[in-house]
Order: sequence, then structure tokens, then C-alpha cells
Amino acid sequence: MEHSRVYDVVVIGAGTGGCSTALFAARQGLKVCIVDVKKESDIGRKVCGDAIGKHHFDNLGLPYPWDAIINEVKGMRVHSPNRSTVFEIVGEGVSGFMLRRHRFGQNLLREALNRGVELYDSTRALKPILDGGAVVGVIGERGGVRVEFKGRVTVDASGVIAVLRRNIPEELLPERFVKPEDIQVAYREVRTIGEGYDEYSYGDIYLSRAYAPGGYAWIFPRSDGTVNVGVGIQCKRGYPNPRTLLYKFLDSVRCVGDTVIDSGGGLVPTRRPLVSLVADGFMLVGDSACQVNPIHGGGIGPSMYAGKLAAEAIVEAYDRGLFTAEGLWSYNVRYMRSYGAKQAALDILRRFLQDISDEDIDYGMSARLLSEDDILKASMYGTLKVKTLEKVKRFIRGSGRLKLLLRLRRISVAMNEVRRLYERFPRNIGEFRRWLYEARSILP
Ligand SMILES: Cc1cc2nc3c(=O)[nH]c(=O)nc-3n(C[C@H](O)[C@H](O)[C@H](O)COP(=O)(O)OP(=O)(O)OC[C@H]3O[C@@H](n4cnc5c(N)ncnc54)[C@H](O)[C@@H]3O)c2cc1C
Repeated sequence: MEHSRVYDVVVIGAGTGGCSTALFAARQGLKVCIVDVKKESDIGRKVCGDAIGKHHFDNLGLPYPWDAIINEVKGMRVHSPNRSTVFEIVGEGVSGFMLRRHRFGQNLLREALNRGVELYDSTRALKPILDGGAVVGVIGERGGVRVEFKGRVTVDASGVIAVLRRNIPEELLPERFVKPEDIQVAYREVRTIGEGYDEYSYGDIYLSRAYAPGGYAWIFPRSDGTVNVGVGIQCKRGYPNPRTLLYKFLDSVRCVGDTVIDSGGGLVPTRRPLVSLVADGFMLVGDSACQVNPIHGGGIGPSMYAGKLAAEAIVEAYDRGLFTAEGLWSYNVRYMRSYGAKQAALDILRRFLQDISDEDIDYGMSARLLSEDDILKASMYGTLKVKTLEKVKRFIRGSGRLKLLLRLRRISVAMNEVRRLYERFPRNIGEFRRWLYEARSILP
């Protein structure tokens, strides 16, 4: 074993969450290292839809990453399962960029390294080092040699694998495991654009249990004559392989060509954030914390935002000299009361959408039980405005869909309740147990 390396902050994972945490912490003068199992030149390579909303850069105070942008889109078109209704959703929150994902990841890494962050690439983190019940670093392995990294704070930003979270004692974190049905299994290809592809300024989302049970199929255009096309489905026993489903989906659309340039699969946790993102000496950022938008699965922006909040909390912990869960608690408070509240409300909507039939979605979209604007607001703020019976009664009458409207209403009320619960996330760690009790009674 090599001797331990000592840092203020040890970040596991050089994805968007880890690089952002490291960058913002280093900007405040902290001594930071990132450990990643990939070799340096592969960092940023990730199977992804590659789409990100502009607003994330605005919120983070970062410039638009022009040299990593391969297309700019003004919105998303959402196609009903029977394809007879198409919602064009435009505006803040959906206008954004298609990224050259590898380059974007490399640029983010470079920025962190330029701020003095040290990188240990080709190094696999294995488990946390514990001392007196607190996390004080990580044991890893590099080229067959055991290595140790010690830090006042250790950040698990290792993505959906969550290598440290899964290996931490249960008394440190109230929630360590994620149910399979809260995960999306996705498969995507980058293909040439087919004949008849006419619209580069929209991404297309197709809802259908036939192609994407519990998820959706997407076609996102890139300006180099290719598209990013994929299918994400709920991880449920008996559901088909998403690759098989993608090929079935591709048979139903004409605009995608046959030449495959890149392909691969991946997992996305699409549920509300874990109930606590901190423990003594320890934090979770990005997919390891379940910070992806539960409805559309976008996790690049949220992981970067969370990295910034985590870094701010670490700086505060330094000022107080307190690296316990209590010292790092402000990360929980800031995240849960803002982004977390929205994500938790959207988790209710996600479960509802995964449960209803294609016929109900066809009907709901054609009758505009929810409008484009309602969907945009739901995705941005976690609020759902459902039309009054008066407004939709000419559609509902005789359709037998009254139950659907009433159910949608109940979902809207439940979303508000959950959002308010998260907006009351306790500022004081001493009140967390009571909050958790309430949360578990509302969200089993
Ligand atoms: C098919 C697919 C499509 C998607 N489409 C979109 C999209 O269009 N837009 C969007 O915003 N989001 C999308 N997402 C989600 C998004 O990619 C993630 O939410 C985001 O990348 C999370 O970043 P992260 O930093 O938390 O994790 P990651 O980007 O996964 O980074 C984790 C890092 O940890 C490293 N690591 C893992 N284990 C270890 C270990 N033991 N030791 C050391 N290092 C380790 C990995 O090498 C990696 O570099 C998609 C995801 C998938 C799978």
C-alpha cells in the first residue's frame, strides 16, 4: 500500500457532478483531488442523450460551453402514443443545447485542474475509510496497488454505481439503496439522419408503452448530420431489452438513418433525491444522490448545480471547523428546499405517468387535460395545474375519462403537499427525524 494522500476534499468520480464540486471547492481555495476509474482522456465519455437546458448555465453563473455544443434547440415536441397529438414545448427550461458530451466533460475537468484540483485517473475507489464512525477518506486501487486518500470531506460523485454510498454503514445514512423500479434502463445510438428529417431546432420525445414502458423514446438532432436516438424504460422484471425496443421504435419512424456511429446503454436513477445527502465527513452529489429530474431524466445540469451547493456547504464547514453531518447540513437544506422540492413533487407525477395506459395519455393530450404550458411548469417548478371540470367537460362527457381527470387532480394535490414538505426541510439536524417520519408517511 502507498502512503495516504491528504486533502481538504476528496471527490470520487470526475463526471459532471464531481468536476463541478471540485471546481467550486477549489475556487474557494480548498485543496481538492478527484479520483476516477477512467483514464484521463476518457473522462467525460458517457452514454447519454447529450441534451442540457440553457438555464442550468445561467443558474450556475457559467458561460455557455460553445465549443462543446453541437446543436441548439428551442424546445421539445412530445408525441402522444398514437402520434395524433404533438405538444410543442418551448421556453426556459427546455430551450438548450445538444452537447459533444466527451468534450464537455473534458472541458469541465480541465477547468477544475486549472484551478489546482489534482486528478488520480485509472484509480478505482473501493470503500470509505472510517474513523470513530465518520468517513475520513477512501481506499482505492491503482494498477494493482492499494492507495488511500484522506480528506476532511469525501464526496461520492461516482454516478449511479454510488460506490461509497453502498458501502457506508447504515447508521451513517438513512437511505443507501435505490429500488430497481426507480431506475431507468436506457439504450441509445448516434445515427445518421434519415431522409425527411426536417427539424433541427426541436428534440422529439415519444411516449408509448409499446416502445418505452415507464419511460420514453427520443430523437435529439445534432447539426453534424446525426441524431442521438434512444429508449429509456422502467427497470421492471419482464420488460423487454431497451435495445430491442429501440429497433422496434426505429421501424416506426422514417427520419433516422441506418448508419450507427456510436451505441451503448446505461442506468438513470429517476426518483426524488435520497432523504439525506450528508453524513459525518461525507456527501453525495449527482446520480449517486438521485438528483436527476424524475420526469425527463436530465441529470447533467442538476448534478452540476448540486456540486456547487455541496462546495458552498464544505466552505462553510471549514469556517466552523465542523465536518460532521451537522457541519455539512446546509447542503441538505439548500438542495432540498429548492431543487429537491421540485424533484420530489415530480416523483409523484412520474409514478402516475408510469402507471397509466397509452389510451389515457392519448386522451389526456388530445383533450388537453394538461397543456404544453402546464407540462413546462411542472417540469420546471414541480407544480401541476389541472383544468377544472367545467373547462374540459365537453371532452370528458361520454368518454368515461372522468376518473382520469379526478386522479390527475389528486396527483396535483399530492405534488403540492410533497413540495411543501421539502420546502420545510429542517434547517436544524435535530429536527430531521420528525421531518423524516412525516416524509415517510406521505411518500412510502
Ligand atoms: C442513456 C442515458 C441518457 C441520458 N440523457 C441525458 C440527457 O440528455 N440530459 C441530461 O441532462 N442527462 C442525461 N442522462 C443522465 C446524465 O447522464 C447523468 O445524470 C449525469 O451524467 C450524472 O452525472 P454524475 O457526475 O452524477 O455521474 P457520472 O457522469 O456517471 O460520473 C460518474 C463518474 O464516476 C466514475 N466512477 C464510477 N465508479 C467509480 C469508482 N469505483 N472509482 C472511481 N471512479 C468511479 C465514473 O468513471 C464517472 O466518471 C442520461 C443518462 C443515460 C444513461
